[in-house]
Amino acid sequence: MREPIRIVTIYSQLFEKKYKGSLDEQADGFIQHTVEAAQRLEALLDDLLAYTQTAEGPQTVDSPVDANACLANTLTVFESAIAESGATVTSDSLPVLRVNEVHIQQLLQNLIGNGLKYRSEAPPRIHISAEKDRQMWKLGVIDNGIGIDGQYHKQVFGLFKRLHGSGKYAGSGIGLAICHKIVERYGGRMWVESEPGQGSKFFFTLPGE
Ligand code: ADP
Repeated sequence: MREPIRIVTIYSQLFEKKYKGSLDEQADGFIQHTVEAAQRLEALLDDLLAYTQTAEGPQTVDSPVDANACLANTLTVFESAIAESGATVTSDSLPVLRVNEVHIQQLLQNLIGNGLKYRSEAPPRIHISAEKDRQMWKLGVIDNGIGIDGQYHKQVFGLFKRLHGSGKYAGSGIGLAICHKIVERYGGRMWVESEPGQGSKFFFTLPGE
């Protein structure tokens, strides 16, 4: 699937480069819509592949990982988004988790990325919390963003479920479905506590030391 989509993207971009401005205004609009849709399709396919590659069933772990180091890595990915939005990201001291590094990275990236994306007027404030919860660790990604109405608290973890149109926020509705699937593979739980306008708290439990 990647190959034909790639070709649509490339040729629509070439078309735009060559003919933009030389046809009428309406044609320019058509070209722009085509280019944008092709790019969205590519991004969607990437996310979908990441979702399908998150296999089902119990997960074996290579070696335990320090979640503090994973967080530091994730923050480098968002360096410019954090600087541009004036965001502050703080965290408790995080545990060593018995989870593959790539999975912690995916969780933190999706959740922190959403915290930055679904921001309110105020500069984003994101806190990563950690507390021991019996045999598991309970981690939280807490933001001061637009929040989520109670009726959607379960639905947001569904595949392709989006509460906000692609006009205002880019996305494909796959990130939280991936997070949920990862957490379940390790026998953990994932949920959100939130109210519109009051920020969101995404919690998940994972095995650790
Ligand atoms: P995407 O961000 O690509 O749309 P996600 O699966 O990450 O997909 O999220 C699903 C939906 O849940 C989003 O479209 C958004 O409406 C809502 N959402 C996710 N995270 C937050 C958040 N931190 N604050 C408010 N709404 C959120």
